[in-house]
Amino acid sequence: MTSAASNSGTSVGFIGLGIMGAPMAANLVKKGFAVTGYNRSKPAVDRLVERGGRAAQSIADTVTGADVVITMLPDSPDVEAVALGPGGVFEYAPAGCVYIDMSTIRPDVARAVAEGGAVRGVRCLDAPVSGGEAGAIEAALSIMVGGSGQDFADSRAVLDAMGSTVVHVGGNGTGQLVKAANQLMVAGIIELLSEAIVLLEAHEVDATAALQVIGGGLAANRVLDRKSASMLARQFKPGFRVDLHHKDLGIVLDTARAAGVVLPVGAVVAQLMAALKAQGSGNLDHSALLTVVDQLSGRT
Ligand code: NAD
Repeated sequence: MTSAASNSGTSVGFIGLGIMGAPMAANLVKKGFAVTGYNRSKPAVDRLVERGGRAAQSIADTVTGADVVITMLPDSPDVEAVALGPGGVFEYAPAGCVYIDMSTIRPDVARAVAEGGAVRGVRCLDAPVSGGEAGAIEAALSIMVGGSGQDFADSRAVLDAMGSTVVHVGGNGTGQLVKAANQLMVAGIIELLSEAIVLLEAHEVDATAALQVIGGGLAANRVLDRKSASMLARQFKPGFRVDLHHKDLGIVLDTARAAGVVLPVGAVVAQLMAALKAQGSGNLDHSALLTVVDQLSGRT
């Protein structure tokens, strides 16, 4: 544990202040880090300034002189452009600084980014997160970190300011592989919770009471705790957008194919998530998988 006073000497450049990045950057400010924020749309930067951060006008402005640079962007092409592209992080980050990408992206892209950083003397970690918007707000994220053990150790104070379970899982790219396994499980659990809800409602059982008692047994899980009330109310404000989980399930199936392993349930859930996106629900929370089960059961 470090103190706010000892953190104040560490400058952090934060790029991508969306649903997750905004509260994560705010928690770094709260823990005393000197945070400079940049986002494609400006209102998000203004909100960070209101919370004690500094505004940057460009990636160069964010990164120049930073000890640590963090990105929290939607997808692999966004990270490639921001890290490796012209005017990107590696053009301006000082040698020796640590670049931590916390977005969920393809493991092969994470490794390519790390190689690009090494050429410029920038130390790279892939550190995707789980725990959702609530975990980001509460600084209670689970953070799975790939990269060198030394770079991980040097970054502990920054990572601990955003998460409560922070684990080094191996070399560059392994954080993203662990995140793929995480996303496979989360999607599967949401689908099974959706099916349980539809089954209970079809038999006119009090679903709130049913899920309460289920939550005390072997089927207890965090998705049930955090999402069942909004699912029962058919409220799907994100949260975690369907578009992003669809992207993640593509990574799951690609990494499975690359390793020659078979994920039958994962493949079905990926198709159900694709159906939701195809129906124009990409901006809803991923728990909207329930609506697909409702439709398949003729209950809409
Ligand atoms: P989001 O779309 O809310 O936020 C992304 C932000 O990045 C936006 O504010 C956007 O304006 C900004 N951005 C995009 N391209 C940019 C660029 N080139 N330069 C500067 N800013 C740019 O997404 P999110 O929900 O915060 O998710 C971010 C990442 O975290 C994704 O990879 C997602 O899969 C992962 N993730 C999300 C959750 C969740 O619950 N939302 C949970 C765990 C992991």
